[in-house]
Amino acid sequence: MENECRLCQMNGPLMQSHIIPKFIYKELKKNGGGYLRDSTQPNKRIQDGHKTFMLCQTCESKLSRYENYFKGSIFEKIYARSSEPIRLSYDTSLLKFCVSISWRILQDLQMEKNLSASFSEFEQNISAALSTWREFMLGDREDPGEFKQYMMVLGHVKEASRTLPMGINAHISQSIDCGLVRYKNNAAIYAKMMKILLLSPIKKSNNPFGITNIRKNGYIITGNQKINLPPGVCQYVFVDRHNEWQKSMNDISEEQTKKIRNNILSNAASYQASDAYQAHLADIALRNKPLLSK
Ligand SMILES: [Zn+2]
Repeated sequence: MENECRLCQMNGPLMQSHIIPKFIYKELKKNGGGYLRDSTQPNKRIQDGHKTFMLCQTCESKLSRYENYFKGSIFEKIYARSSEPIRLSYDTSLLKFCVSISWRILQDLQMEKNLSASFSEFEQNISAALSTWREFMLGDREDPGEFKQYMMVLGHVKEASRTLPMGINAHISQSIDCGLVRYKNNAAIYAKMMKILLLSPIKKSNNPFGITNIRKNGYIITGNQKINLPPGVCQYVFVDRHNEWQKSMNDISEEQTKKIRNNILSNAASYQASDAYQAHLADIALRNKPLLSK
């Protein structure tokens, strides 16, 4: 496929790029009892995630360097020691990775859907975010300016001040999802890569999420944290998308359900050690907990 690369803007053959990196889908298959919980395309059988023709070979390999950094220095470390709180230091490659993910999601949304119709009031913000992120990835600017990247490592919900849908912890630890979410008078790109949540507002605001702002270097922490995200973000990312996913699961055939169950039973030991199983236990415990007073 010959076309213009969205990053370097040169004409040439384009590669099929993953929006959310392939290794995260692999981890989900390994960790999720053998089935994929992919909210980005709930009605399709997904093997390794949504792909689109976006980048030339050179740009694809450039961005894959940041992906490898995230995989080795952040993602795998979190999944290797899921129960203990840890502190992970990072360098500028993490910021590049975050920007590349936010950019891909927004670019893909713009290519595939009529964003200007559904998010018309953000039209200028969307094009400003896309060009700022592009310039940062190309090395034409030092930082992503007002289009900041925020990241948090999600733990299991142990108590809540409102009734949450059944299976919320399974959704938190086992779903891959991305998109654009509205909150207050803003909107943010979100990428939910299993337990890792990346948020980037498309309009300037001062840390609206109370979570780690990814800079050129610093550290991120895992462990007990209060989820204090804006209600719009919480409702959409954790509840609405979970409900949509659950609806789509009703379409799964009897045969497929049997396959999933058999897969879990024949790998019982690894399932019990998995984060999917821990999330399932957390869901049972949460159902029996009284609500927190606000
Ligand atoms: Zn290119």
